[in-house]
Amino acid sequence: QKATPVKSQYNISSDSLFAPFEFQDSSKKYVGIDVDLMNAISQDQGFNIKMNFVGFQTAVDQTLANQADGMIAGMSITDERKKVFDFSEPYFTANSTIVVKEGNDKVKSYEDLKGLTVGVKNGTASQDFLEKNKDKYGYKIKVFDTADTMYESLNTSSIDAFMDDEPVVKYAIKQGRKFSTPIKPEKIGEYGFAVKKGSNPELIEMFNNGLAELKDNGQYDKIVDKYVGDNK
Ligand code: GLN
Repeated sequence: QKATPVKSQYNISSDSLFAPFEFQDSSKKYVGIDVDLMNAISQDQGFNIKMNFVGFQTAVDQTLANQADGMIAGMSITDERKKVFDFSEPYFTANSTIVVKEGNDKVKSYEDLKGLTVGVKNGTASQDFLEKNKDKYGYKIKVFDTADTMYESLNTSSIDAFMDDEPVVKYAIKQGRKFSTPIKPEKIGEYGFAVKKGSNPELIEMFNNGLAELKDNGQYDKIVDKYVGDNK
């Protein structure tokens, strides 16, 4: 079943820094799994997009305010979000994990976070998890708008730990960040492309059709391998 575009261009909001899903390369051009997937899907399905890398919470706000037609931002499909968003088929699976500085041997469980400050990005599933378990474990939460400031805060020890998606943390470690992940990760849901509930139904359909096509023709694997392949 082929869907056809209704708009001459779709504005797609995304995170500003969520490597390897969206980040700027050495020439400041945005690249990453989400970017390449979105471009390949729009090409395959014959619709035009403009991607805006505004940050996670802003992408959520814009999509819900009809200022963006949809969003792709390594966004976990959660029951909470399903109340206000329609999601595509999942395109990636990722858990979320607590991160401490490499060499920190004091934090081995959530209980060890008692009295410590844990950073998290605004609007994320990790933030939800931390808020829900705050009283149980007795940590403080510090909310950040972007990953780079959060990562630097751990480096300078102005926070003791942070929580972020596992593939993003693994990628950061591969890039040379001195981080470790001592606690078993949490399941927070698979990633999906999202529109505001009830809007742009053709966009979800085209995304799903394009994703299926990319999985069939090997392009999906190529894109993922390019950023998180074993040889990377
Ligand atoms: N997967 C997480 C979420 O949906 C984090 C996404 C992000 O930081 N871009 O909340």
